[in-house]
Amino acid sequence: MNIIDIINKKKNKEELSYEELEYTVSNYLNDEIKDNQMSALLMAITINGMSDEETINLTNIMLNSGDIIDLSSINGVIVDKHSTGGVGDKTTLILAPLVAACGLTVAKMSGRGLGHTGGTIDKLESIENFKVDISNDEFINQINKINVALISQKGNLVPADKKIYALRDVTGTTSSIPLIASSIMSKKLASGADKILIDVKVGNGALINNIEDARKLAKLMVKIGKQNDKQTICILTNMDEPLGCAIGNGVEVIESIKCLKGEAPEDLYTLTTSLAAIMVSIGKDINIKSALLEVIEKLDNGEAYQKFLELVKYQGGNIDNINISTKVHSIKSNKEGYINKIDSLEIGNLVNSLGGGRFNKDDQIDYSVGLLLNKKVGDYVLENEELLKVYYGQKDIKIKDILDCFTIDIVLENKKPLIYEVIK
Ligand code: URA
Repeated sequence: MNIIDIINKKKNKEELSYEELEYTVSNYLNDEIKDNQMSALLMAITINGMSDEETINLTNIMLNSGDIIDLSSINGVIVDKHSTGGVGDKTTLILAPLVAACGLTVAKMSGRGLGHTGGTIDKLESIENFKVDISNDEFINQINKINVALISQKGNLVPADKKIYALRDVTGTTSSIPLIASSIMSKKLASGADKILIDVKVGNGALINNIEDARKLAKLMVKIGKQNDKQTICILTNMDEPLGCAIGNGVEVIESIKCLKGEAPEDLYTLTTSLAAIMVSIGKDINIKSALLEVIEKLDNGEAYQKFLELVKYQGGNIDNINISTKVHSIKSNKEGYINKIDSLEIGNLVNSLGGGRFNKDDQIDYSVGLLLNKKVGDYVLENEELLKVYYGQKDIKIKDILDCFTIDIVLENKKPLIYEVIK
């Protein structure tokens, strides 16, 4: 068996066997297969796809590439949530403490930015000293003590995904359905949760742009979950405009804190409370209405925010020092009218150009940069009124490139729904 034959097989649209996938993953992990060969295979998979059986096999091989956390010693139901990635998607920062405040356990392994989309771990690292790398024992101790933990793909948990994910980020192979499904599900299954909620983002700012592909991805992940005896629910949600107003690592942490204190933009509030309600409903086996009431109560009475503070403190973070640039421009609209579209893909790319994301695997990111929208889709803007602020660092972006992200018209277009459907 050799990698060149495997690449050629996938290039010719043939199915790869379990043994071929295992050979590829294990030899990529031990550096026998190099990045250039793995990139070629990932691109062939992105273009030619994989069968459900290949995807399920790849998930299991990745899952078994490292440790699998056993959380069976922890009392109560452990719920986990993951997003396929979007622009401005900071829901995990709010959800994790919120659902924990409702009495459930949230043991969550998160990722870094992928392509133009941000990642929870990069966001958390904009909090001074926040430790995302903790050992499995520390992870379990923390969950036992405060019933919530947010960690990165630590040491030996799904090392295959860690390495492949970083390569996909810089090789244009982020939008492949089987690669997304195996990446997410291997991590979710390895981190020991009993129930899994996946927010499948659909739209211009997501890895998946149309509802049919989003459905395919969702059904595949539900199938993988079932095969592993884990209840998995997918919710398809709109990513045609950035979620909330903040896009960039530090600014998103600030917006999450505001949301926990009851000052969220409407779309962020609605999505976060809806996701939290599903988690609480499946975790406690109660109906969604009662779950939503509980979620809103924990936000309103400040318990969710207190849980967030506890989480940050426990993981060593200094909440008084969040990395935000002091260099700020205000960008004014060059037109009057309704905002019918904000190109979230381009917005994500612009934040990356500011230094907020990676173009190469080893790039250091600038946590302090980002954008803060003053207007969302559906809002009316006057000429010369502020559209957004740019928090910049060593790099800046062109005003024209930002203005080009906004479609402004005299007539207001119908807005797409925030939540499309739930697949279980
Ligand atoms: N999140 C992941 O963990 N993996 C992907 O491939 C996409 C989003």
